[in-house]
Amino acid sequence: MSFRRSIFVLSLFSFVLSAAVHAGPINWPGKAKAAVSLSYDDALHSQLDNAVPALTKYGIKVSFYPILSSPVVVERMTEWRKLAADGHELGNHTLFHSCAKSKPGRDWVPAYNDLDKKVMGQMRDELLTANAFLHALDGKTERTLTPPCLDWELADGNYVENLGNLFVGVKGAEKIAAEQTALLMPDGHSGKQLIDFVKKSAQKGGLVQVIFHGVGGDHLSVSKEAHEELLRFLAENRTVYWTDTYLNISKHLAAGSK
Ligand SMILES: [Zn+2]
Repeated sequence: MSFRRSIFVLSLFSFVLSAAVHAGPINWPGKAKAAVSLSYDDALHSQLDNAVPALTKYGIKVSFYPILSSPVVVERMTEWRKLAADGHELGNHTLFHSCAKSKPGRDWVPAYNDLDKKVMGQMRDELLTANAFLHALDGKTERTLTPPCLDWELADGNYVENLGNLFVGVKGAEKIAAEQTALLMPDGHSGKQLIDFVKKSAQKGGLVQVIFHGVGGDHLSVSKEAHEELLRFLAENRTVYWTDTYLNISKHLAAGSK
Protein backbone atom coordinates (compact mmCIF):
# COMPACT_ATOMS: atom_id res chain seq x y z
CA MET A 1 0.00 0.00 0.00
CA SER A 2 1.29 3.40 -0.86
CA PHE A 3 0.90 4.95 2.57
CA ARG A 4 3.84 2.89 3.65
CA ARG A 5 6.49 5.06 2.09
CA SER A 6 4.81 8.14 3.26
CA ILE A 7 4.81 7.65 6.97
CA PHE A 8 8.55 7.62 6.49
CA VAL A 9 8.52 11.36 7.04
CA LEU A 10 7.31 10.77 10.57
CA SER A 11 10.21 8.54 11.33
CA LEU A 12 13.71 9.09 12.60
CA PHE A 13 12.57 11.41 15.27
CA SER A 14 10.66 11.24 18.43
CA PHE A 15 8.02 13.73 19.22
CA VAL A 16 5.86 14.76 22.06
CA LEU A 17 2.14 15.32 21.77
CA SER A 18 -0.14 15.93 24.60
CA ALA A 19 -3.06 17.69 26.08
CA ALA A 20 -1.48 19.20 29.15
CA VAL A 21 -3.36 18.53 32.32
CA HIS A 22 -1.79 17.12 35.50
CA ALA A 23 1.85 17.89 36.05
CA GLY A 24 2.43 16.03 39.34
CA PRO A 25 4.23 12.70 39.61
CA ILE A 26 2.27 9.69 38.36
CA ASN A 27 1.97 6.69 40.68
CA TRP A 28 2.52 3.67 38.49
CA PRO A 29 1.78 0.11 39.65
CA GLY A 30 4.54 -1.51 41.71
CA LYS A 31 6.15 1.91 42.17
CA ALA A 32 7.59 1.66 38.66
CA LYS A 33 9.56 4.66 37.48
CA ALA A 34 7.61 4.99 34.23
CA ALA A 35 5.05 3.18 32.08
CA VAL A 36 6.00 1.80 28.67
CA SER A 37 3.51 1.12 25.88
CA LEU A 38 4.72 -0.83 22.86
CA SER A 39 2.33 -0.89 19.94
CA TYR A 40 2.33 -2.37 16.44
CA ASP A 41 0.31 -0.55 13.79
CA ASP A 42 -1.27 -1.40 10.44
CA ALA A 43 -1.57 -5.25 10.57
CA LEU A 44 1.73 -6.34 9.04
CA HIS A 45 2.93 -9.87 8.35
CA SER A 46 6.29 -9.19 9.99
CA GLN A 47 4.56 -8.37 13.27
CA LEU A 48 2.93 -11.80 13.43
CA ASP A 49 6.00 -13.57 12.05
CA ASN A 50 8.74 -11.81 13.99
CA ALA A 51 7.45 -9.63 16.80
CA VAL A 52 4.93 -12.02 18.34
CA PRO A 53 7.38 -14.90 18.99
CA ALA A 54 9.74 -12.47 20.75
CA LEU A 55 6.89 -10.99 22.83
CA THR A 56 5.89 -14.51 23.87
CA LYS A 57 9.49 -15.37 24.75
CA TYR A 58 9.80 -12.37 27.09
CA GLY A 59 6.23 -12.40 28.40
CA ILE A 60 5.54 -8.79 27.44
CA LYS A 61 1.98 -7.63 26.68
CA VAL A 62 1.46 -4.98 24.01
CA SER A 63 -1.12 -3.37 21.76
CA PHE A 64 -1.81 -4.07 18.08
CA TYR A 65 -3.64 -1.51 15.94
CA PRO A 66 -4.59 -3.32 12.71
CA ILE A 67 -6.03 -1.53 9.68
CA LEU A 68 -9.20 -3.58 9.51
CA SER A 69 -9.52 -3.35 5.72
CA SER A 70 -6.04 -4.87 5.34
CA PRO A 71 -6.01 -8.31 3.70
CA VAL A 72 -3.54 -9.39 6.39
CA VAL A 73 -6.37 -9.24 8.93
CA VAL A 74 -8.58 -11.64 7.00
CA GLU A 75 -5.75 -13.91 5.87
CA ARG A 76 -4.49 -14.43 9.40
CA MET A 77 -7.68 -14.03 11.41
CA THR A 78 -6.91 -16.95 13.72
CA GLU A 79 -3.61 -15.40 14.72
CA TRP A 80 -5.14 -12.01 15.51
CA ARG A 81 -7.74 -13.73 17.65
CA LYS A 82 -5.03 -15.67 19.45
CA LEU A 83 -3.11 -12.49 20.24
CA ALA A 84 -6.11 -11.15 22.11
CA ALA A 85 -6.66 -14.49 23.87
CA ASP A 86 -3.02 -14.35 24.97
CA GLY A 87 -3.49 -10.99 26.71
CA HIS A 88 -2.41 -8.56 24.02
CA GLU A 89 -4.66 -5.67 23.04
CA LEU A 90 -6.37 -5.19 19.70
CA GLY A 91 -6.99 -1.46 19.33
CA ASN A 92 -8.87 0.74 16.87
CA HIS A 93 -6.81 2.12 13.97
CA THR A 94 -9.94 2.72 11.87
CA LEU A 95 -11.15 0.66 8.93
CA PHE A 96 -9.50 2.57 6.10
CA HIS A 97 -6.56 4.50 7.55
CA SER A 98 -7.44 7.93 6.16
CA CYS A 99 -4.73 10.58 6.53
CA ALA A 100 -4.58 14.30 5.70
CA LYS A 101 -3.60 14.69 2.04
CA SER A 102 -2.83 18.39 2.57
CA LYS A 103 0.23 17.67 4.72
CA PRO A 104 3.69 17.63 3.16
CA GLY A 105 4.72 14.31 1.61
CA ARG A 106 1.18 12.95 1.45
CA ASP A 107 0.95 12.37 -2.29
CA TRP A 108 0.40 8.71 -1.49
CA VAL A 109 -3.01 9.39 0.11
CA PRO A 110 -5.70 8.49 -2.47
CA ALA A 111 -8.25 11.27 -3.00
CA TYR A 112 -11.05 8.95 -1.86
CA ASN A 113 -9.26 8.35 1.44
CA ASP A 114 -8.38 11.95 2.30
CA LEU A 115 -9.06 12.76 5.96
CA ASP A 116 -9.32 16.47 5.07
CA LYS A 117 -12.54 15.64 3.19
CA LYS A 118 -14.15 13.38 5.78
CA VAL A 119 -16.82 14.66 8.13
CA MET A 120 -17.63 13.78 11.73
CA GLY A 121 -20.59 11.53 10.96
CA GLN A 122 -18.52 9.40 8.58
CA MET A 123 -15.72 9.11 11.07
CA ARG A 124 -18.09 8.22 13.91
CA ASP A 125 -19.60 5.41 11.82
CA GLU A 126 -16.16 4.17 10.81
CA LEU A 127 -14.89 4.13 14.40
CA LEU A 128 -18.02 2.37 15.66
CA THR A 129 -17.80 -0.22 12.90
CA ALA A 130 -14.13 -0.79 13.67
CA ASN A 131 -14.99 -1.25 17.36
CA ALA A 132 -17.68 -3.77 16.39
CA PHE A 133 -15.23 -5.66 14.14
CA LEU A 134 -12.70 -5.79 16.98
CA HIS A 135 -15.43 -6.95 19.37
CA ALA A 136 -16.16 -9.81 16.98
CA LEU A 137 -12.47 -10.73 17.13
CA ASP A 138 -11.87 -10.53 20.87
CA GLY A 139 -15.24 -10.16 22.63
CA LYS A 140 -14.09 -7.00 24.42
CA THR A 141 -15.96 -3.73 24.80
CA GLU A 142 -13.24 -1.40 26.11
CA ARG A 143 -11.12 0.02 23.33
CA THR A 144 -8.30 2.48 22.68
CA LEU A 145 -7.53 4.36 19.48
CA THR A 146 -4.40 5.23 17.55
CA PRO A 147 -5.46 7.86 14.97
CA PRO A 148 -3.83 6.95 11.61
CA CYS A 149 -0.83 9.21 10.92
CA LEU A 150 -1.78 10.83 14.26
CA ASP A 151 -3.97 13.19 12.20
CA TRP A 152 -7.10 14.47 13.92
CA GLU A 153 -8.61 17.21 11.75
CA LEU A 154 -11.63 16.51 9.57
CA ALA A 155 -13.44 18.92 7.23
CA ASP A 156 -15.74 19.83 10.12
CA GLY A 157 -13.63 19.51 13.24
CA ASN A 158 -11.25 17.51 15.40
CA TYR A 159 -12.47 13.93 15.68
CA VAL A 160 -10.34 13.06 18.69
CA GLU A 161 -11.98 15.88 20.64
CA ASN A 162 -15.46 15.02 19.41
CA LEU A 163 -15.36 11.23 19.39
CA GLY A 164 -12.66 10.49 21.95
CA ASN A 165 -15.37 9.44 24.43
CA LEU A 166 -15.77 6.19 22.42
CA PHE A 167 -12.38 5.18 23.80
CA VAL A 168 -10.64 4.56 27.10
CA GLY A 169 -7.54 6.22 25.69
CA VAL A 170 -6.27 7.87 22.49
CA LYS A 171 -2.59 7.72 21.54
CA GLY A 172 -1.06 11.15 21.50
CA ALA A 173 -3.95 12.71 23.44
CA GLU A 174 -3.17 11.52 26.95
CA LYS A 175 -4.37 13.79 29.70
CA ILE A 176 -0.96 14.15 31.29
CA ALA A 177 1.62 16.89 31.14
CA ALA A 178 3.44 17.26 27.83
CA GLU A 179 6.83 16.73 29.45
CA GLN A 180 5.64 13.42 30.87
CA THR A 181 4.97 11.75 27.56
CA ALA A 182 7.35 10.78 24.79
CA LEU A 183 6.54 8.90 21.62
CA LEU A 184 8.88 7.31 19.10
CA MET A 185 8.07 5.78 15.72
CA PRO A 186 11.28 3.94 15.01
CA ASP A 187 12.68 3.36 11.54
CA GLY A 188 15.97 1.53 11.37
CA HIS A 189 16.77 2.22 15.01
CA SER A 190 19.24 -0.08 16.74
CA GLY A 191 18.44 -1.90 19.96
CA LYS A 192 20.66 0.51 21.83
CA GLN A 193 18.85 3.52 20.39
CA LEU A 194 15.49 2.06 21.40
CA ILE A 195 16.71 1.33 24.93
CA ASP A 196 18.31 4.78 25.23
CA PHE A 197 15.03 6.38 24.18
CA VAL A 198 13.16 4.48 26.92
CA LYS A 199 15.77 5.24 29.58
CA LYS A 200 15.97 8.92 28.74
CA SER A 201 12.20 9.46 28.42
CA ALA A 202 11.49 7.48 31.61
CA GLN A 203 13.51 9.94 33.66
CA LYS A 204 10.48 12.24 33.66
CA GLY A 205 8.39 9.53 35.33
CA GLY A 206 5.64 9.53 32.72
CA LEU A 207 4.52 7.47 29.77
CA VAL A 208 7.00 6.22 27.18
CA GLN A 209 5.54 5.00 23.89
CA VAL A 210 7.14 3.18 20.99
CA ILE A 211 4.94 2.70 17.93
CA PHE A 212 6.38 -0.05 15.73
CA HIS A 213 5.41 -0.89 12.19
CA GLY A 214 7.58 -3.55 10.52
CA VAL A 215 9.81 -5.84 12.59
CA GLY A 216 12.40 -7.57 10.42
CA GLY A 217 10.42 -6.67 7.27
CA ASP A 218 7.67 -4.43 5.88
CA HIS A 219 7.83 -0.63 6.20
CA LEU A 220 9.22 1.67 8.92
CA SER A 221 10.99 -1.37 10.23
CA VAL A 222 13.52 -2.24 12.86
CA SER A 223 15.50 -5.47 12.78
CA LYS A 224 14.34 -8.52 14.70
CA GLU A 225 17.49 -8.21 16.77
CA ALA A 226 16.92 -4.55 17.69
CA HIS A 227 13.33 -5.30 18.65
CA GLU A 228 14.37 -8.28 20.77
CA GLU A 229 17.08 -6.26 22.49
CA LEU A 230 14.47 -3.78 23.69
CA LEU A 231 12.17 -6.58 24.89
CA ARG A 232 15.00 -8.24 26.78
CA PHE A 233 15.85 -4.93 28.46
CA LEU A 234 12.22 -4.35 29.47
CA ALA A 235 11.85 -7.93 30.73
CA GLU A 236 15.00 -7.61 32.82
CA ASN A 237 13.81 -4.31 34.30
CA ARG A 238 10.14 -5.00 34.95
CA THR A 239 10.17 -3.34 38.35
CA VAL A 240 11.61 -0.14 36.88
CA TYR A 241 9.45 0.06 33.74
CA TRP A 242 5.80 -0.97 33.81
CA THR A 243 5.31 -2.34 30.31
CA ASP A 244 1.69 -3.17 29.54
CA THR A 245 -1.05 -2.73 26.98
CA TYR A 246 -2.10 0.82 26.17
CA LEU A 247 -5.57 -0.11 27.44
CA ASN A 248 -4.28 -1.07 30.89
CA ILE A 249 -2.09 2.03 31.04
CA SER A 250 -5.02 4.24 29.97
CA LYS A 251 -7.29 2.68 32.58
CA HIS A 252 -4.67 3.31 35.24
CA LEU A 253 -4.36 6.95 34.19
CA ALA A 254 -8.15 7.36 34.14
CA ALA A 255 -8.49 5.87 37.64
CA GLY A 256 -5.76 8.16 38.97
CA SER A 257 -7.34 11.31 37.61
CA LYS A 258 -10.69 10.69 39.37
ZN1 LIG B 1 -1.10 3.36 10.70
